[in-house]
Amino acid sequence: MIWSLFKIILFVVLIGAATVGAAYLLETDGGIRIDVGATEFNLGALQAVIALIVLVFALWVLLKLVGLIVATVRFLNGDETAISRHFDRNRERKGYAALAEGMMALASGEERTAMTNAARAERYLRRPELTNLITAQAAEMAGDRKKATEVYKRLLTDERTKFVGVRGLMKQKLEEGDTETAMKLAEKAFALKPQHAETGDVLLALQATQNDWHGARETLGTKVRHGALPKDVGKRRDAVLALQEAKGVFEEGNSIRAREAAIEANQKSPDLIPAAILAARAYLEQENPRYAARVLSKAWKASPHPDLAAAYAEIKPDESSAERIKRFRTLTKAHPDHPETKMLLAELHVAAQEWDKAKAALGDLATEHPTQRVLTLEAAIERGQGAPDSDIRALLAKAVVAPRGPQWVCDKCNHIHGDWTPICGNCGAFDTLAWREPEASDVRMPGGAGMDALLVGAPDIAPEPETVVSAEEDPAEPIPEVAEASDDVIEGEASDADEEEPAKTTG
Ligand SMILES: [Zn+2]
Repeated sequence: MIWSLFKIILFVVLIGAATVGAAYLLETDGGIRIDVGATEFNLGALQAVIALIVLVFALWVLLKLVGLIVATVRFLNGDETAISRHFDRNRERKGYAALAEGMMALASGEERTAMTNAARAERYLRRPELTNLITAQAAEMAGDRKKATEVYKRLLTDERTKFVGVRGLMKQKLEEGDTETAMKLAEKAFALKPQHAETGDVLLALQATQNDWHGARETLGTKVRHGALPKDVGKRRDAVLALQEAKGVFEEGNSIRAREAAIEANQKSPDLIPAAILAARAYLEQENPRYAARVLSKAWKASPHPDLAAAYAEIKPDESSAERIKRFRTLTKAHPDHPETKMLLAELHVAAQEWDKAKAALGDLATEHPTQRVLTLEAAIERGQGAPDSDIRALLAKAVVAPRGPQWVCDKCNHIHGDWTPICGNCGAFDTLAWREPEASDVRMPGGAGMDALLVGAPDIAPEPETVVSAEEDPAEPIPEVAEASDDVIEGEASDADEEEPAKTTG
């Protein structure tokens, strides 16, 4: 804006100066006299200036002519490309200027100017690998898909630009939702440039969504070999993929291969909980309970998880409660202060109806870290110890609004999953699920605190319906109803808690 204003002012000033200069020269008496032999030229001041300008122009033409003559002489002396080179230099200069302008326009978002300049540059330079790139990007920016596709296809013909063409077409297919063609293109692009991180990720994600775990593992291996992924990350992801492959093979009915794959996944990443469980079951099928126990306790040492305890119980389904408590010592001694260990021990003792031991095992978890599971366990223990119903109801009411404790949470989008999956169901990220407590803002129980008061206070309010209150605003009437209804639900939960919670580890 300021620059164009400046240019206009400069132009006006120059015109003014030229006018003033010309008028001054016209008024001046002096001049230039040139003697050439017998001839004499007399030039006025203005004429002299014009002559000077003509002279400069003539000199420029002469220089150009000399350049051409030199090129011609060289050509005559056998340098066949001398003349074409002489003209090419000019074309090249114009071509690169157009190319530069095209790139500038692309950067500043003027896609039409970019396309025009690219076409001009192409006319001068004849270097499609450069100009097509600009045209493709400009077309993409302008939303002209057809033009972009056409240019990408042109890029395919040159080895140097093939990758860009394939990648461009792949992205177009992905946007269109044509995953099948996109996958073929991704495979092609990945074969051309295995060290290209983005293409590898796209291919991997596509293979994972198509359940092509075997292909995904190969892609991952190539990525690691080309240094596009750190080795340890590659190993962990390979374990996740091997686990999925095992699940797939298992569904196909090939249990022997599935077993091998599960065990392999577990060996690659012993802390991957679902892999450890699958491997343990594979060992159990081979009637090798010792190995099953070993993989499970190894995984438990890395990170205690209720599913591991459940699988550990499966090793000897028919043992007595006392035997089970003894056998579980391998697990419970690993992280004695971990909440998961405390809950597991409490559940084992509840199953054995050893209420005092169960309470001791649970420790101060109910006050320090009250989760739904802890509070229902506590209620079960209190009930076993013969505590009054109101106490148990109070505990269960607290359990309803308590946090749910650790769950499978996506590290990327914080989405909560019921079961472990290799790909987040919400954001599609790979291997981002972690067993941890969701952030408080992610989970909110409906109903909430209001229910608490109703449930706990209900028995006291119920026997006093005679309180003198007007009919419209009688609070005593609806409350017993609500309380009773919720009571049933809670009672149901209480018996559930009694039987189902320990059943998890017993069954
Ligand atoms: Zn996610």
